[in-house]
Amino acid sequence: MIKSQMKHITIDTYLCNGCGACVEMCPDVFRLNELTDKAELVTLEPEITDEVYQAVALCPEKCIEIE
Ligand code: SF4
Repeated sequence: MIKSQMKHITIDTYLCNGCGACVEMCPDVFRLNELTDKAELVTLEPEITDEVYQAVALCPEKCIEIE
């Protein structure tokens, strides 16, 4: 059986400025951590939709990666 390659979203929280653009674009995927004000994933393996790619493009710090 051939396993399809899973893609993962990573957020560089060091670079994240907490602007919330990714949360506005994909509230099911991203949220701001209440303590750190940095973006984090809502679930471990979210579906990677077109909106997620748009959030990656919109992020002003370019700190979201899909790999
Ligand atoms: S768009 Fe980028 S900088 Fe803004 S909260 Fe999301 S990850 Fe952080």
